[in-house]
Amino acid sequence: MTAAVALLEVGTGEGAAVRAVRVAAIASQHADAVDAEGRFPREAVDAMRAEKLLSIQIPADLGGEGASMTEIAELCSILGQACAASAMVFAMHQIKLSSLVEHGIDSDWHRDFMRRIAREQLLLASATTEGGIGGNLRNSICAINVEGDTCTLEKDATVISYGAHADAILITSRSHAEAASSDQVLTCFLKDQYDIKRTVEWNTLGMRGTCSDGFLFKGKAPAKQILPKPFAEIAAQSMLASSHLLWSGVWYGIAADAVSRAQAFVRAAARKSPGVQPPGALRLAEASSMLQMVKSNVVAGLKAYEEAKLDADRLSSMAFAVAMNNVKIASSEMILPIINHAMLICGIMGYKNGTPYSLGRHLRDAHSAQLMISNDRILGNTSTMLLVHKQDTSLLG
Ligand SMILES: Cc1cc2nc3c(=O)[nH]c(=O)nc-3n(C[C@H](O)[C@H](O)[C@H](O)COP(=O)(O)OP(=O)(O)OC[C@H]3O[C@@H](n4cnc5c(N)ncnc54)[C@H](O)[C@@H]3O)c2cc1C
Repeated sequence: MTAAVALLEVGTGEGAAVRAVRVAAIASQHADAVDAEGRFPREAVDAMRAEKLLSIQIPADLGGEGASMTEIAELCSILGQACAASAMVFAMHQIKLSSLVEHGIDSDWHRDFMRRIAREQLLLASATTEGGIGGNLRNSICAINVEGDTCTLEKDATVISYGAHADAILITSRSHAEAASSDQVLTCFLKDQYDIKRTVEWNTLGMRGTCSDGFLFKGKAPAKQILPKPFAEIAAQSMLASSHLLWSGVWYGIAADAVSRAQAFVRAAARKSPGVQPPGALRLAEASSMLQMVKSNVVAGLKAYEEAKLDADRLSSMAFAVAMNNVKIASSEMILPIINHAMLICGIMGYKNGTPYSLGRHLRDAHSAQLMISNDRILGNTSTMLLVHKQDTSLLG
């Protein structure tokens, strides 16, 4: 048993990492087919449900296991080493769940919904991206309309991962028809409360199994399903951090598996010619060093989050926002040279599909990282904060 697995057994009491390893074994069997066919990773998500992984973040008194962000990031990495699309579905579900856990805990409807998610292992999707706005998460064109106890919403949601397979969608909009574009709310619509018509097909280079088609969304639900906090608070205090940290967990997993494949290649070469250093050995050492930098980056980000969670001022501070943005930028950029190194080590056996050393899927999936909220947007946001915020120079966290 690894130290990480042991830690998780203490943390959740049920060995979430052990269960995730079982899910990863299933995800890995289907990863190439999911990628080639651009289909939903049904087998892996069914296994997540069977292992009750979709509710680990929910507090124990609502039927979950109260898992921490650090524990969930480790599961994202375990799954990411097997099938990046399955891992990303898991990560995105957990990111939506973090908004419910952190901001819906005082609302009866949202507490009941969390109980239901735990009982029925419901899968949550996210609709923030909008036609005409792109990845500008903190702005919406569409507006929710509240009449009496009912709310209605129409949104041109150009990217909703696994939208056709989800049990509920958490969707951003302006808070009312006259609201400014940044005055937003987040509403939870259940599957039988909305209709989605596919408008854009997800036929992409990588992350093909996330099935992130575009849809015209039309929903009608009780108004109490609108989360009781402004989306500005939800984004700053849970969603941005959980997105950057859990995505990074998935991306670290992709890179870690690429390095494992390269290591297996070098070891096989060493066995063939005992006493001779295989040509890829030095590159493998470099890749290992780069992978450790990504790990350090994610681990430091998780530590900063777990500490800031205890202090609302710190969670909303510029220093924290800069740190989380930097985690995303660094991990999304650094995984590409790592996988490229692995490809150089494995040569044509890495370039070809269907070998034990194949890396094409890893490389294609990894290219989504810089676009998933464009790094240019994030850098623009950080650079604005750095005009007034002093860069952190301490090693003490
Ligand atoms: C695998 C995957 C799954 C996804 N799943 C979902 C999902 O479930 N739900 C969802 O809502 N979204 C999802 N997205 C969408 C994602 O999070 C981004 O919002 C979206 O990819 C951004 O699209 P864009 O690059 O066209 O738009 P934009 O963000 O508009 O960017 C377009 C280009 O313009 C440039 N640009 C734009 N604004 C600026 C700026 N201010 N400063 C500098 N440069 C700028 C950028 O360089 C960028 O290349 C997913 C994306 C991926 C890759």
